[in-house]
Amino acid sequence: MPQRRTKRGSERTPLARDCDVLICGASFAGLAVARELAGSGARALIVDRYEIGERQTSACAAPTEWISAMGTEASIKQTFRDLVIHTPQVTTRMHLPWTFSTFDYPTLCELLFQQCDADFETAKVDGRTGTTVHTDRGDLEAPLVVDCLGWRRVLGSDGYQPTDAPLSRGLEVHPGGASDHLEIWIDRGYVPAGYSWSFPARDEVRVGVGSFDPRFAVKEPTVRLARDLHRDAVRYQGNWIPHKLRKAAEDEVFFVGDSAGHCLPLTAEGIRTAFYFGIACGRELRAVLSETKPGDEALRDYGAFSAAHRWKFESLLRVQRLIPRLPPRLLAPALRGMASDRFVRWAFDHYLRIAPPDFAGAPRRGNTRPAEPIAA
Ligand SMILES: Cc1cc2nc3c(=O)[nH]c(=O)nc-3n(C[C@H](O)[C@H](O)[C@H](O)COP(=O)(O)OP(=O)(O)OC[C@H]3O[C@@H](n4cnc5c(N)ncnc54)[C@H](O)[C@@H]3O)c2cc1C
Repeated sequence: MPQRRTKRGSERTPLARDCDVLICGASFAGLAVARELAGSGARALIVDRYEIGERQTSACAAPTEWISAMGTEASIKQTFRDLVIHTPQVTTRMHLPWTFSTFDYPTLCELLFQQCDADFETAKVDGRTGTTVHTDRGDLEAPLVVDCLGWRRVLGSDGYQPTDAPLSRGLEVHPGGASDHLEIWIDRGYVPAGYSWSFPARDEVRVGVGSFDPRFAVKEPTVRLARDLHRDAVRYQGNWIPHKLRKAAEDEVFFVGDSAGHCLPLTAEGIRTAFYFGIACGRELRAVLSETKPGDEALRDYGAFSAAHRWKFESLLRVQRLIPRLPPRLLAPALRGMASDRFVRWAFDHYLRIAPPDFAGAPRRGNTRPAEPIAA
C-alpha cells in the first residue's frame, strides 16, 4: 500500500490564503499551467489532495519530445522507437517517426514544480461558489481559478456518472522486471472494445487493460494479461478516462486536462494534451495578469482554442467506435496494411500534430525554485 504522506490531523491547519491564480490539481495539467506562470509576478497557489507526485495517475508514456520540451528529460526511464501491436492473428512492429518514453511520475512532477514559482498546499477540493473554492481546509478565493482535477470536473456544473458517461476505464499493474518492447494488444479476448498494453520502464513493467466501454470491468483481464506475460499482478493503478471533449471554460473557471476531456480518444493519451492545453491556459492567464486582456476575454479565447480542436477529437472518437465493430478477420489485414513505413510516418506525424511539442516554446534554463530531493 502506498503510504499517505498528506498532512493530516493537527497538521492539517485551515488554509487562509490570498492569491491571484488558484490552480486546483497538481498533476500534468496543473503543473503545466503553473510552470507557464513562472516569472509573471503572479501569486499562484496550487492545491491537491495529495503531495506533488504522490499518486501516479497513468502508465506514464509520452512522446519523448514533449518530455524534453517540458524540461523533464531526467525523469525518463526508457525510450522506444518501435511499437509492437498484437492481434490474435498477427503481430506487427511499427517503426515510429518519433519516440515514446516511459518516465518516473514523482520525478517528472518534481521537475515541473521546480520550474514554477507557485506555492503548493494539500487540500481536498469540494466545489465552488463563483470564484470561491471550497476545500476541506476552508474556502479559497482568487480572481482566476483553474480546474485541473481530472475527469470529475469538481468545479464544473455538469458532473459525470461513470458508467453512463463518455468515459473509458483503465487499470494497470506495475510488477518489477524488464523488457525492450513497447507492446499493445488489440484482442477481444482481453477487452471487447479497447486495448491492452505492456509499457516497460527500465526496472518495472506497466501492464494494463483499457476499455472504451465504462461498464466493462477491467480487473480480471488485467490480471490475466499479467499472468500471460509471466508478470505479477501487483501495485494497481487505475481510473476513469474521459474520451469526449468538454467545455474548457465555464462561468469564471478554466478547465484543463481530463477535466476538459483533453485526453485523446482511441489512444487514451492525455499527458501531452494536458501539457499542451495547460500551456495555452497559462498564456491566457499571463495576458490577464499583465492587464493586456480582461479575464472574460481570456476565458472566451481559451475556450475557443480548445473547441477548435474538436474535429480532431471527434475523428479519433469515430475510429474508437469503429474498431470494435470491425469483423476480427478484417483486423489482421487492416493492421498489416497500416504497418508500412510510409503509412506509419504519415499517421503518427499527423497524430503528434494534434498537440505538437514545439508549442511548448524554447526550453527553460535553470530552476525557478531550489531543487529539493526527488523521491524517485
Ligand atoms: C491506467 C491508465 C493509464 C494511462 N496511461 C497513459 C499513458 O501512458 N500516457 C498518456 O498520455 N496518458 C495515459 N493515461 C491518461 C492520463 O493519465 C490522463 O489523461 C492524465 O493523467 C490527465 O492529466 P490531468 O492532470 O488532467 O489529471 P490527473 O493526472 O488525473 O490529475 C488530477 C489531479 O487532481 C487531484 N485531485 C483530484 N480530485 C481532487 C480533489 N477533489 N481535491 C484535490 N485534488 C484532487 C489528483 O490528486 C491529481 O493530482 C492513462 C490513464 C489511466 C487510467
